Amino acid sequence: MNIILMGLPGAGKGTQAEYIVKEFNVPHISTGDMFRAAVKEQTPMGLEAKSYMDQGLLVPDHVVIGIVKERLGKDDCNAGFLLDGFPRTVAQAVALDETLGDLTKKIDHVINIEVDRSELMARLTGRRICRDCGASYHVIFNPTQKEGECDKCGGELYQREDDNEKTVATRLDVNIEQSAPLLSYYSEKGLLRNIDGQQDIGKVFEDIANLLRGQA
Ligand code: AMP
Repeated sequence: MNIILMGLPGAGKGTQAEYIVKEFNVPHISTGDMFRAAVKEQTPMGLEAKSYMDQGLLVPDHVVIGIVKERLGKDDCNAGFLLDGFPRTVAQAVALDETLGDLTKKIDHVINIEVDRSELMARLTGRRICRDCGASYHVIFNPTQKEGECDKCGGELYQREDDNEKTVATRLDVNIEQSAPLLSYYSEKGLLRNIDGQQDIGKVFEDIANLLRGQA
């Protein structure tokens, strides 16, 4: 069961990744997590990656491909794996196919969690933080009893600078532009499976699980 999980920011990819690895017992290979760990350990690769990550840029393909290649060669990937955050470019997708070919493996499913842009905007701009105690809320998913006021301490709620409409819209548009060629790549190969990410979290997972069990 060799899976790629795709989805725009706010689509619920992180939550579904957690459910998938638990239910299907496959390792979760998140390149973002691997880079963050390398940055923390200050390895040479981590230091190189950090300069790109800090600017919100993609780490160069050869670096990403190198770490994924090494990871996929490990024994725990023999019965399958879940790739999250990789591939992000067609060059990475091609290199992945080559690497898997060398290991006599292939991708079985590319799962894309689909959510409308307007819904993603609402999800991503809805976070509110208390000025006094730092408690975090969400206007849709975790609202306070009284609008604009912290449940815990009564403090005033505010929206973080990077959660504002303009920043979120830019982040989304960059992601949409980057993912489009990849979606075409896997669609042409007949591997792309779109999942409706606007249902409740449990139903989204049910759809994914059915698909992975070959019942969809
Ligand atoms: P993520 O947590 O997946 O958003 O990744 C955090 C950061 O790590 C990204 O903004 C990139 O700088 C870098 N990164 C993660 N995965 C990749 C990838 N497949 N290709 C290039 N850069 C990546």
